[in-house]
Amino acid sequence: MYDPKIDIPRAKEQIEKREKHLEAILGCIVGGAVGDALGYPVEFMSEKAIKEKYGPKGITEYELDRKTGKALISDDTQMSMFTAVGVMVGDTRSSMRGVGSSPCINAGQAYMDWLKTQTSTYEENKDHPRGYGNGCISWLCDVPELYSRRAPGNTCLSQLNAYAHGAHYSSDFIAEHVNDSKGCGGIMRVAPFAVYYELDREMIAMEGAQIAAVTHGHPLGYMPAAVLTHIINTIIYHRENKTLKEIVTEAMEVCSKLFRGTRHLDELVELVNAAVMLAENDKPDSANIKLLGEGWVAEETLAIAIYCALRYQDDFTAGVVAAVNHNGDSDSTGAVTGNILGAWLGGNGIDDHWVENLELKDVLIELGTDLCHGCIMEEGSCYEDPDWIRKYIRMRWRPEDDEDTKLSGFPDLHRMNKALREENTERKRSGETRKETFKEI
Ligand SMILES: [Mg+2]
Repeated sequence: MYDPKIDIPRAKEQIEKREKHLEAILGCIVGGAVGDALGYPVEFMSEKAIKEKYGPKGITEYELDRKTGKALISDDTQMSMFTAVGVMVGDTRSSMRGVGSSPCINAGQAYMDWLKTQTSTYEENKDHPRGYGNGCISWLCDVPELYSRRAPGNTCLSQLNAYAHGAHYSSDFIAEHVNDSKGCGGIMRVAPFAVYYELDREMIAMEGAQIAAVTHGHPLGYMPAAVLTHIINTIIYHRENKTLKEIVTEAMEVCSKLFRGTRHLDELVELVNAAVMLAENDKPDSANIKLLGEGWVAEETLAIAIYCALRYQDDFTAGVVAAVNHNGDSDSTGAVTGNILGAWLGGNGIDDHWVENLELKDVLIELGTDLCHGCIMEEGSCYEDPDWIRKYIRMRWRPEDDEDTKLSGFPDLHRMNKALREENTERKRSGETRKETFKEI
């Protein structure tokens, strides 16, 4: 036990193994943000108005923010970043303390932090204690740029606000049926979860739906998130020699089985089938996309993204450009298309110029890299990663944020590890075993 000669090489080996997937994971995370940032300026514009303003091809390059010179990300990417942190904080607790809880519960906790970024300022929130209970769990609360309202979705705001005021916080959000919204606020933020675990894909897909159902209770609000989760997870970990179309078909088969008997499943299947068929005709994108809807609701967001990804599976730029030039919710359809195509083509498939001017690109790459590595530390091992501990246990972004932190329950690293080891030894002695990742305590 605690043998550095065994633990450290083993940890390094695990990191190397995970790094095989780095390109695809970074592509998914950054690609989603690119599609979001491209579509954000035209989110509320009709196709006609977009073409009047940007020319007959529509918007094909970023509209840079005058103040910062950056392409601004919207709520889609902001919430996706909080999904990432929530999932990793939860996994870290599970790995190091044997305290397991479902990813949807941890993602939901992180969304409460996102809510704070929408309702308070960086200065007001930066000294807020970190930790479970009344604290923030997200180091993202240390990123000043995230305290920006970028047309946040009403359902997300109102449902999270309801939790903040005591609404029942479930562990099975689908069964809880928190409201009857099928807006795309659930699907647009689920990709970081989809890239994280290499586990049973049916379980992953169902958990993707649960993450959407934290705020969206209508079956068409969460089932499309399951489909997207399955598609992305398959691309990253189980791609083998499958075509993208085969991966989409497989995801639909699995989700049809998972949600058999759920109302509105047929509508979802029909719409995705239409997207797959339309991707193969020779009609213009605008005519095809009109048949799929506008993307304000999750099933249409998924269908439009699948259409664009299949149609332009070798060309990231063409895919996201097609995904944002229509009457509907351009940033969300752009984000989900960017997630799929970014995973499919990898980070190298995304032209540098898209990344260069992207707001918070460094933080997005940092998150993508963390999602790739995962929590390598575990109880019973002496391998330690101080950056991981700072971000996912002490919940602080940079070392300078950590110095004056008002910790709620986490002592310094040395003491914490000692305490953890004692706790773990105690638990082992008492015969209690580590909980499975997805099981709740
Ligand atoms: Mg948005």
